Amino acid sequence: MLSQINCLDVVARLPVGVYLTDTNRKITYWNRAAEDISGYGSDEVLGLHCHDNVLMHVDGKGNSLCTGLCPLAQTMADGQIREADVFLSHKQGHRVAVHVHTLPLKNANGEIIGAAEIFNDISILLSMQRKTAILEKMAFYDSLTRLPNREHMESELAARFQEFRRYGIPFGILFLDIDHFKDLNDTLGHEAGDRVLKTLAATLRESARSFDIFGRWGGEEFLGIIRNVDPAEVASICERYLRLIEKSYVNIDEKQISVTVSIGATVVRQDDTTDAIVKRADRLMYQSKREGRNRMTVEG
Ligand code: GH3
Ligand code: MG
Ligand code: MG
Repeated sequence: MLSQINCLDVVARLPVGVYLTDTNRKITYWNRAAEDISGYGSDEVLGLHCHDNVLMHVDGKGNSLCTGLCPLAQTMADGQIREADVFLSHKQGHRVAVHVHTLPLKNANGEIIGAAEIFNDISILLSMQRKTAILEKMAFYDSLTRLPNREHMESELAARFQEFRRYGIPFGILFLDIDHFKDLNDTLGHEAGDRVLKTLAATLRESARSFDIFGRWGGEEFLGIIRNVDPAEVASICERYLRLIEKSYVNIDEKQISVTVSIGATVVRQDDTTDAIVKRADRLMYQSKREGRNRMTVEG
């Protein structure tokens, strides 16, 4: 059996911060990792209360936890183990993100005589999570228009195909290509062209229903996936976008510059594949070009 001294020795050297308090939340023990994470030596904190200018835990929204919401006080009140992600105040003044566990300390009669808090520095983990989220966004969103990029739209299409095969939920796609966009670039410059692309993307994004999605398929080509529609509905959706786009404009050199698009649209068929449905919509889009542009061609 380990003696009490040996146990304390192990706790002292644990790689996680540990401190103990009495029922008044006065700090009675503070291990080495607690010193490292907080910057406070045990001689500076023993005898203080955990809310006496040390640690000063706050939650993710900046609310102080040292008054009513203190997990340590709550644990002593109801004997329950708690865990939370909070921030503590380092001696140098900066905030440190920590994951804390609080557990009640009981005497031989089962009465609560204090509490223990175990805490881990999770700032590296959080910054990695943030970086991963940014990288994910970069991998699946187009940097100019902030719309989902082609890879993202391909995986959306795959998901819609699964939904169609499993549950019979149909979907339609819209393939949009800007009319005479090369002329616009040639006369007003590439930067003006970029602004037009951004405006068109905003129109698509802002006007889409919450379960529909538009992405940038290529240079001046956009793809929309419309869930649960028949060809007649697809036609009225195309009509709406044609009108919305031709009425949108960008101010360039004090002139309002508008563009139009040609659309090809179709709905999913039993024997379709991702490739086949996109090719069909692309072919229909070219038909709209041949027939005069700023129009749609829809095939069921
Ligand atoms: P059409 O009506 O037949 O579609 O004519 P178009 O001029 O739009 O077609 P074309 O395919 O000849 O030209 C597409 C143009 O789109 C050429 C290219 O410079 C421009 N483009 C593609 N990507 C970008 C971009 O990111 N920014 C800008 N400004 N232009 C782009
Ligand atoms: Mg094109
Ligand atoms: Mg074009």
